[in-house]
Amino acid sequence: MKKKSIQLVSHGQFEDSFIDTIAEDIAREFNAEIKTEECHADLNAFYAPSRRQYDANKLIRFLEEQSETKALKIICLCQVDLFIPILTYIFGQAVYKGKTAIASIYRLKNEPYGMKSDDDLVLDRFRKVVIHELGHTFGLVHCQVPSCVMRSSTYVEDLDQKKIHLCKHCRNHMETLFE
Ligand SMILES: [Zn+2]
Ligand SMILES: [Zn+2]
Repeated sequence: MKKKSIQLVSHGQFEDSFIDTIAEDIAREFNAEIKTEECHADLNAFYAPSRRQYDANKLIRFLEEQSETKALKIICLCQVDLFIPILTYIFGQAVYKGKTAIASIYRLKNEPYGMKSDDDLVLDRFRKVVIHELGHTFGLVHCQVPSCVMRSSTYVEDLDQKKIHLCKHCRNHMETLFE
């Protein structure tokens, strides 16, 4: 099977090791070849003053339009507080069976919940959000298997309970889509 190409776009300051870890995860879970790219776009146009958050759907459309990549999928890592109109906040968003997904680290930190900061835990959560959102672009829906990365997560605790991997069922489904 030919490797899929996925463009990993980072916006804002992330440590190289952080990006490397996430790139490795994506490569492994989706049998993909990863290209990384930094984006320095001004995100002001996506800011909704009434919510003090950034519009994830608009941001996704922008990423899709400005990118010249021929990659099959684009995943953007960012640091701003994202929303979609029906939800208070989101960890990430994806176009189902589409090209583009976005994930933010903003809501994954411990501090807003009154707990001690823990960089390893934040990275762990972020890795899961990234694989989850990319899974949606590949046509995977929410999974009921408790440990599966495609299980829906509303709170960080939900993220902490699942693993970083696609379960056997989701993996098989992916494979049937790419035969
Ligand atoms: Zn989801
Ligand atoms: Zn699953």
